[in-house]
Formats: sequence, structure tokens, C-alpha cells
Amino acid sequence: MNELVLEKVKQAGVAGAGGAGFPTHVKIACKAEYVIVNCAECEPLIKSDKYLMEQHSQAIVTGLEAVMDCTGAKYGVLAVKHKNKTAVGALESAASGNEKISVHLLENYYPAGDEQQIIYEVTGRVIPVGKLPIEAGCVVINAQTAFHVAEAMESSPVIRRNVTITGEVHSPLTVTVPIGTAVTYLLELAGGVTCEDYTVIIGGPLMGRAAEDVKSEFVTKTTNGVIVLPTNHELVRKKTSSLEQELKIAKAACCQCNYCTLVCPRSNLGLGVMPHKVMQALTFSNAGVLVDGNAALGCCNCGLCTYVGCNMGLSPSRFIARMRTELLAKKVKSNREPGPVNLFREDTKVPSKRVIQRTGLADYDREVPYVDSYDAPRAVRIMLKQHIGAPCIPVVSEGDMVRVGQCIGQIPEGALGANIHASMSGRVVTVSKDYIDIMEA
Ligand code: SF4
Ligand code: SF4
Repeated sequence: MNELVLEKVKQAGVAGAGGAGFPTHVKIACKAEYVIVNCAECEPLIKSDKYLMEQHSQAIVTGLEAVMDCTGAKYGVLAVKHKNKTAVGALESAASGNEKISVHLLENYYPAGDEQQIIYEVTGRVIPVGKLPIEAGCVVINAQTAFHVAEAMESSPVIRRNVTITGEVHSPLTVTVPIGTAVTYLLELAGGVTCEDYTVIIGGPLMGRAAEDVKSEFVTKTTNGVIVLPTNHELVRKKTSSLEQELKIAKAACCQCNYCTLVCPRSNLGLGVMPHKVMQALTFSNAGVLVDGNAALGCCNCGLCTYVGCNMGLSPSRFIARMRTELLAKKVKSNREPGPVNLFREDTKVPSKRVIQRTGLADYDREVPYVDSYDAPRAVRIMLKQHIGAPCIPVVSEGDMVRVGQCIGQIPEGALGANIHASMSGRVVTVSKDYIDIMEA
């Protein structure tokens, strides 16, 4: 392992930018055969990685090379959808000088960016449920994360990221903003909201969450999208309705047709995920019906069973998430290797266009041009926990002057976490248990 790379990545506060924010210095502290950069960006409507790949392909390759150096990987792979032709060309050109690095083209299906799918597409390997990609000799990092690793090599911390703002806004766009920018500020950058009663989804439409109070939302290292939808949109209903109410409906309406399992990409990889079995167990109020913990434990929360599979309007993915949490709390673990991959897996792939149609998002499938010139926010709120692990401990006090890039919160001793940094110069006006506010002086 290259300790210098690890230390630079740690100091810069790099965390997985495409998922839950796993601290990157921990993820790459291993020996790997493959390092795969996940450039799939498979959630509908979001284009933040697309522009990053087009504009910063060289930095993404530099980040990949640093992680390969750290892990001793023989192969570096940039896995990107073939439909993003400009990005593919930019990545191929940037990687052309390194014979260990290749570009792997993915079809335009959802969820092509799921870690299990991408590892299978590149290596033909499947990771047992509950194990990490390194069990298959792989480290997978997101394109934005690779970019942040490249910046870390130049001793530049994570202080900005690309975000797409779209949906019910006047001028959808993609923009690079300081970490800590208010989501309300992003809505202004997009020309304002176009409907009265709206809900903001933070992240992609399928895996993102509905914001309870948009005024309390600020860009973190993992915020790739902000999508505004009418509150009465079906997709919003499925995210926000009471689970107890949903359960009552499911007891009456789930006909055990199995369609949710037939579309499940984890099931089709032989991982034993069976949303219909989870529904059966829940609707009979008998978890004992669920004879195989893998039915829930192997779920990646992609939402396909809910948004595409179920014709009865039910939400198996929400129930499966709840059951997964319960099983993990009881320390139930998977006890078996993956079964065979579905011979007809290729036929089960759900094209992204179909996902857009089924989720009622076709009207919002628009251009989101990259805008590089705008008035920067005059204040930011940097959350102390933007990653998996423990919140950072503030190392500044109210009234302090800070400069852009300065470390303002550190990982607690011996804990899992990622440092945070000032994304603008100014005065620290608030230090709370959850965040640090900085205002232009
Ligand atoms: S949740 Fe929906 S798709 Fe799944 S078995 Fe029940 S009715 Fe069928
Ligand atoms: S959310 Fe549904 S479709 Fe996606 S992995 Fe989980 S069970 Fe399968």
C-alpha cells in the first residue's frame, strides 16, 4: 500500500460521492486486483458525472491511477455507458497512455451503477451477500470520488461537487457548487420552482429521499441531484406515504404475482433477493415465512421492484429496507454463496427509458446544461456528518476567520469518518453538534 496516497486522501476528506459516503482512505487500504471507476450514473435525470467526465477526464484517470498505485491493482477500468459518447471519447483519450487502464462500455439500463452489477459486467464475478467488493478482488469508486482523489494528490481537499437541479424548475442545470450550499439557493440558480405545492428529492429519483424541510437541506459530499416534483406526483407518494398505511393496502392487494422479484437485478445475479417473499412474510405478519435472510439482506435499495415491477402500486423496496434493518439489528447474516446467475439476465435488464416512463418522469427528461458562471453563495452550512461513520469534531470556534480549504472538522480518534473543510473563506458564525456555518466576512 502507498501510505502517502492514503494519508493525502484521508487529509482531504474524500468520501464516496456516489453512494452513502464511505470514507475512501479506508476503502482503498487493501490489496486489489481491479480498481473500477463507476461512471455509470444510472439514476434518471441526473447528469452531474456526465459533465465531470467530459470536462475532467484526465483528473478522473489520475485519481484512478492513484488508487491503483495504493492497492497494487493490475487493472484499472472506467465503466461508462456507451450512450455518453462525448464522455467515452474523453475517458478513452485520457487513459490512452496507460496500458493497464481500459474503458468498459455499459448498456443504458438501470441500475447499471449498482456495485454488484458493475463488478459482474467487468469481471464476471459476484460478491456473496454481506461481503465487500474486495472479496472479489475489486475496489469500486465513483467518478466524482476519483476526481476528488486526484485533487487530494495536489493537497486540495473536498470543497465542491457537481449537482444537477431539475424537475419543476424554470431552468434545469448542472453546476459545480461549494459543499454546504443551501438547496434553496440551488433552486434560485435554476430560476425558481414552477409549481405551488412541491416536494424536493435529494439525490436521484429512485434512490433519493424526499426532503422534509427544504430550508434545512445543504449540499454534502454525496449530493448529486436535486429534483423538484409536484407533491401529488406518484413517485413522491411512494416515498412519503405512511408504511403502516402501505402495509394495510399490501395485505389486501399483493397477489404474489412475483413480478417484483422477476425485475430485481440482485435476484437475477443469483443473490437470492426475493421481494415477493418479503411481502408475503409481512402481509402474513409472520417473518418465519421468510426462510432465507438473503431475500432481504442482498437488496441494494434500487427501487426497481417498486417503481417498475409492481403493477398493484405497492412499495416492496420500502418494506424490504425495513426488514433488512430488522434482520441486521438481530445480527442475522447471510450464510451461503451466490446461486447461478439467471441465464436470461440480459433479457431482464430494464432500459433507463422504461424506468423514466414507468416513474412518470418523461416530462422532466430534459437537457440540464452545465453552467459555469454564477454568483457564488455568500454563506455555507457544512454538515459534520456527510459520510458513513462518526460525525467530525469541530476544530474551529464561533467568530474564527477561516480560509477556503482549511480543515474545520476532524475524524474522532480511532473512528471511521472523513475530515471536513471550509468551502469558502469567511467567518464561522455557528458551531453546533450537527454543522458549522460560514459567512462571507
Ligand atoms: S409486491 Fe406487487 S409485484 Fe410483488 S408480488 Fe406483490 S403484487 Fe406482485
Ligand atoms: S430494491 Fe427491489 S429490485 Fe432493487 S435490489 Fe432491492 S428488492 Fe431488488
